This record gives sequence, C-alpha cells and structure tokens, in this order.
Amino acid sequence: MSARSRKHALRERYWERIPLNQLSQAEWEGLCDGCGKCCLLKLEDDDTQEIAFTRVSCRLLDTETCQCGQYEQRKTFVPDCVVLTPSTLKDIAYWMPETCAYRLLYEGKPLKDWHPLVSGDPKSVHHAGASVQGWAIPEFEIDEDDLEEYLLEEE
Ligand code: SF4
Ligand code: SF4
Repeated sequence: MSARSRKHALRERYWERIPLNQLSQAEWEGLCDGCGKCCLLKLEDDDTQEIAFTRVSCRLLDTETCQCGQYEQRKTFVPDCVVLTPSTLKDIAYWMPETCAYRLLYEGKPLKDWHPLVSGDPKSVHHAGASVQGWAIPEFEIDEDDLEEYLLEEE
C-alpha cells in the first residue's frame, strides 16, 4: 500500500477520536507511517494459510525513501497491489505488518510513538528502525525461486 502522507486538512489528533470510516481521504492516507513493510513480498503457507513476510520488496518500492515509485498509477504496473480502504480493512488487517497504523487502529491499539503523526517528524519511522529503509532488497535483484531464503522471522 505505502501511501503518501499529506499534512493538510487534518483534524487535530483525529486518529484517536474519529472512526476510520469517517475520515477524510487526506486523514486516511495520513495514517500511513511510510514504513514500506506492506510492500514486502509475502509467502503463504498452503496448509495453515499463515502469511510470512520476506525482506524482498515490490519492484516499485524505493528502498531508501520507502515510498512507492508510481503510487498514483501503481495498479497499472502491479495489478495485485492492495488498495486499503475503511471497507477493505477488515479483510486485510490480519496480514498487514503488526506495526502498520491501519492494523493497530483496526485492533483498537494506539499508534506508536515513532509514527509521524505522533512525533511530528516524517522521518521518525526510519530513525526508530521501524521501516524497511536500508534492508529491503528489490525483487529485481533476486531470483524469484529463491524467495524462501529471504523470509523474515516475524513482521
Ligand atoms: S504497513 Fe501500513 S503504515 Fe506501513 S507503509 Fe504499509 S500501509 Fe503504511
Ligand atoms: S505497487 Fe508495490 S511499491 Fe507500490 S504501493 Fe503497491 S506494493 Fe507498494
């Protein structure tokens, strides 16, 4: 997903007091912390349906800024990129990264202190080591048959 945060037209501490389905588009997108973790490739266990993240990222992810390189046209290039909305969240939250702001709020948990909305610093997610900055490997750099070798222990 990896949305881009927009700072305008955001009601004060809206994430703590306004239901997700009543947020403006700017507020909804502002919830994204910019971690880039949802843009990591995942593997699903055929038997248990458990999802495991790898350290390999979608080819459109800039692994330094952790932003999608073609956010507005991403579905053209990556048709299975998930579009997160208040109505799709219930079906998606369970496999989003545990630190994802959308998942946290869906589960009734507070945002992390390093979330840019809380810290006021868009880079705090990176400074806290909570993003994929510096360690994600773009998918075009690996052989897709080797994906299992890049599994993360937990995400
Ligand atoms: S995991 Fe969640 S908070 Fe992080 S980039 Fe993806 S949508 Fe945004
Ligand atoms: S196209 Fe790729 S990089 Fe862009 S938001 Fe979707 S998963 Fe992330």
